Amino acid sequence: MAQAEENESTQDLEMNLVEGEDVLYDYEKLLQRAWERIPEDVAKATERFQTPKAEVLHEGKTTIIRNFVDIVQRINRMDHMEQFYKFILKELGTAGVIDGRRLILNSLVPEDKINEKIEDYVETYVLCSECGRPDTKLEREGRVLMLVCMACGARRPVKVKKSRTSQEDKSTVKVGDVMEVTIQSVGRQGDGMIRMGKYLMFVPGVGRGTKVKVKIESIKGNIIIARPVE
Ligand SMILES: [Zn+2]
Repeated sequence: MAQAEENESTQDLEMNLVEGEDVLYDYEKLLQRAWERIPEDVAKATERFQTPKAEVLHEGKTTIIRNFVDIVQRINRMDHMEQFYKFILKELGTAGVIDGRRLILNSLVPEDKINEKIEDYVETYVLCSECGRPDTKLEREGRVLMLVCMACGARRPVKVKKSRTSQEDKSTVKVGDVMEVTIQSVGRQGDGMIRMGKYLMFVPGVGRGTKVKVKIESIKGNIIIARPVE
C-alpha cells in the first residue's frame, strides 16, 4: 500500500516535470514523505536529549544555579565536573564556587546566558556527532581530548570553537538559507545526510559524496530538510 502510494506520487511529479507545470505542490508532498521516511532511530536520537535547564536564583550580587550537580549528572560528566564549571565560569567571565549541589556565581548573570553556555558545553563536550546521543565519555589520547560514544562507538577529537556565541550559531541556519554542502552519508531510504554541528540535514534524492547547493526548506528540532537548487 505504502509502496503503491510512493510510486503514484513519483509518477505525479514526473508528469508535472514533463508538462512543465508548477511542481511546488508535489514538492510539498515530497517534503512530507521525507519527514515520514526519516529512520525512527535517527528521529529519536535527535529528539531524545534535551539539554537540562539551569534553575537560577539571583541573591544580592550573586547568581545561584540551584541544580548544578543535577545537570552534571544528566550530561554524564560527574568525572569532569571541575572542567565543566570552569568552562561555564570562563565563558561567563565570572568567578564562582560549588556549594553542595549548587554553583554560586559572584556576579549577576541572566538565566538565558547561563543556559546558552551549558548548551555550548553539551554540544562541544557531550553529544556524539554521529548519533546525537549524550551517552559519551571524555578520554585523553596523548594531548588530544577525545569524545567517545558508548551508544554507537564513534570517537572524535573535541573541537573547541573559538569565541562563538549561541546567537551566531543559531543565525547560521535558518529556513530559506542556501548553502553548498557535501553529502556525508546516505540514509536507509536513500536520502543524502549531512551532520552540521547539532543539526542533521537530509537532502532527498542526492547520493553520497555529491557536492550540491541546497536551500533549507524546514527545520524541526535538530533535523533540517533541504532540497537542491540550481
Ligand atoms: Zn554515537
